[in-house]
Amino acid sequence: MPKHRTINVGDKYERLTVLENLGVQPRGGKPKSVYRCQCDCGKTVDVIGALLGKHVKSCGCLNMDNLVRPIPIGTRYSRLEVIKDLGVTTGKGKIYLCKCDCGNEIMSDGDHLKQGFKKSCGCLHSEQAKERGCRALKAMLVQGTNIRRITCKKPPSNNNSGVRGVHWRPDKERWIATIGFQGKRYYLGSFEELKDAKDTRKVAEEKLHDAFVKAWKDGASTQGHSYDNKESDGNG
Ligand SMILES: [Zn+2]
Ligand SMILES: [Zn+2]
Repeated sequence: MPKHRTINVGDKYERLTVLENLGVQPRGGKPKSVYRCQCDCGKTVDVIGALLGKHVKSCGCLNMDNLVRPIPIGTRYSRLEVIKDLGVTTGKGKIYLCKCDCGNEIMSDGDHLKQGFKKSCGCLHSEQAKERGCRALKAMLVQGTNIRRITCKKPPSNNNSGVRGVHWRPDKERWIATIGFQGKRYYLGSFEELKDAKDTRKVAEEKLHDAFVKAWKDGASTQGHSYDNKESDGNG
C-alpha cells in the first residue's frame, strides 16, 4: 500500500466528501495535508488527509449515531443479554435492562455494552476475585504445611529413637511411628522392632509427600488421606 494516498476533490470517505485541498498546515506541531470536507449531515470540517476515512469518517455525527443506535433486544455481550430498552438516553447512549447468566438483572448504558466494559452483573468479577482468593489460600496452606519440616530428618532433642516421628512408649514397650501434616499428627502404628517403625515412617513420608503434591496439583482437599489420625494401639 502506498504511504501517501492521492486525495482528490470530490472523493468520498464514508460520510465525508472532499471539497477543497487546503494544502499543508501545521497540525500538532507538524506540517500536514489538510482537506476541507462536507459531511452528509451538512456540516463542513477540515480533516488531516492521512486520517480521512480511517480515524475520521464524519464530522463526528457518525460516532453519535453509533452511540444512540439501538441495540436489538436479545443481543448478548458475554454473560449479559439485552432484554429491554428502558427508553432513556444519556451521554453514554441508551440505557438497557440486561439479564445476566446468573439470573441477576442489571441496567447498563449501551456504550459500556458495545465497548465491552460491561460483561456481567458483577458475578464474573466476583468469581475471578474468589479464584484469586482460592489461589492465595492454597499458597498459604503450602506454607502452613512447612515442607522443610516434612523433609527434615533431624529428630527433635526429646526424641528417644534417633529418628524423627518414632518414639518409644515405655508403658506399651513398643516403638510408635507418627507423622505430622498440616498441624495434625497421624498415627502410623506401633512396632516391636525400631527398624520396622523407622521403615514405616520413611514410607509414610514418601507417600504423604506424594499425596500432598498430588492434592496440591488437583486442587483437592488434603484431608481424608489414608492415615488414621486417632491415636490407637494397632499392631501395624
Ligand atoms: Zn456529520
Ligand atoms: Zn451475574
